Amino acid sequence: MDTRTHAAAATPGETVRVAGWVHEIRDLGGIAFLILRDGSGKIQIKFEKEEMDDDLVETGLSVHRESVIAVTGDVETEERAPTGVELVPDEVEVIAEADPELPLDPSGKVEADLSTRLDNRTLDLRKDEVKAIFEIRAEMLQSVREAFRSLGCTEINTPKIVATGTEGGTELFPVTYFGREAFMNQSPQLFKQLMVGSGLERVFEIGPIFRAEEHNTPRHLNEATSIDFEAAFTDEQGAMDACENIVRAAYGGVAENCQGALEALGLDEEFEVPTERFPRITYEEAIERVNATGELDEQLFWGDDLSTEAERALGDDVGSHYFVTEWPSEIKPFYIKDHDDDEELSTGFDLMHPRLELVSGGQREHRHDRLIEGFEQQGLEPEAFEYYTKMFRYGMPPHAGWGLGAERLVMTMLGLDNIREAVLFPRDRQRLSP
Ligand code: ATP
Ligand code: MG
Repeated sequence: MDTRTHAAAATPGETVRVAGWVHEIRDLGGIAFLILRDGSGKIQIKFEKEEMDDDLVETGLSVHRESVIAVTGDVETEERAPTGVELVPDEVEVIAEADPELPLDPSGKVEADLSTRLDNRTLDLRKDEVKAIFEIRAEMLQSVREAFRSLGCTEINTPKIVATGTEGGTELFPVTYFGREAFMNQSPQLFKQLMVGSGLERVFEIGPIFRAEEHNTPRHLNEATSIDFEAAFTDEQGAMDACENIVRAAYGGVAENCQGALEALGLDEEFEVPTERFPRITYEEAIERVNATGELDEQLFWGDDLSTEAERALGDDVGSHYFVTEWPSEIKPFYIKDHDDDEELSTGFDLMHPRLELVSGGQREHRHDRLIEGFEQQGLEPEAFEYYTKMFRYGMPPHAGWGLGAERLVMTMLGLDNIREAVLFPRDRQRLSP
């Protein structure tokens, strides 16, 4: 596929052809160095002006930064070179010249704002610390997939264009579907539930969700990636166990396979895989603890959702990942089952990182009549969801599951300030391109 030698693999004594981007040219007079960068790392190319062919020197030293070049030559040991080796060129070929003016500086010497970076992601990802985020994201997804497979789950893919939203509401993006109104799906919730009643029983999906949320925050996207889990014959406790397992696997895979990327982000020393069990705090205890911190201007009362400030205060208080369980039924969606002995309490739970919410889940209402009541209580027309409710008449086992935001997982894992850092091409109120 590729007959070049990667920069990191160039070994003294070999004649190689390396290819990549011109990272930097340092002209010291009689001698000059070109640093070539490729996906594996960097290598120094040495130009001794007196001893080398003038054309060769001219080609190598006049090329603009970030141009793509290929260099053939001998690899020699050079302790003063950044990687301990250097290449003495016989031939320099300019493959794709870059403009002298670049919209951002991939060497990182000149800082660019996030918007400029997102407009020029190709150049932005030439920086080690930015590339590292996406290497970690890929490893995280790989580890999560493997962990789901170990739990006996089947990976599914469900439609993203739908006739009705999961929960209705204003968070839907309408689209035109052959003259009919349709929507971009806000969650695979209903589809994954339908699959636990099929022969699959345990499923997961990693795919896009679309939310037409108006607000612009550092933790919301209008197109996000959801890691979804749903399993038959389990309850909210089993779903929380699976959730802990998956989050731990994500951290574990990154710790094991992303040392270089963590180093590029300056996180190699402090990165920790959570080993303790995540505390499970009831909603009631959560609001008491928030109130006791005295961080909030106004006290929380039973029935209130946890605001961003409340999540912060509680996160500081707990200091690790934790679950909030036993939410009031009225603030959880209709498909979440109530507690058998107390209808005011739901089996819904959230997994929190000290900074923000990562997961929402719960045991589901699998009894047909109760499900229909739930729709009506939420002001939804059950008829519009007949494709879903119908299957609850044909043998739907008890089941539970959750949805985890992939970008929020990466963001919290790496301590990123803005969720947009964890997406190549984010979609938000302002951004529709690239
Ligand atoms: P929040 O209250 O933080 O806005 P939510 O409760 O509306 O989130 P859920 O519908 O519970 O979100 O979705 C499950 C998970 O999917 C969330 O915990 C989060 O990790 C992720 N998620 C949901 N909406 C978004 C979004 N707009 N941007 C990024 N991630 C999201
Ligand atoms: Mg939620």
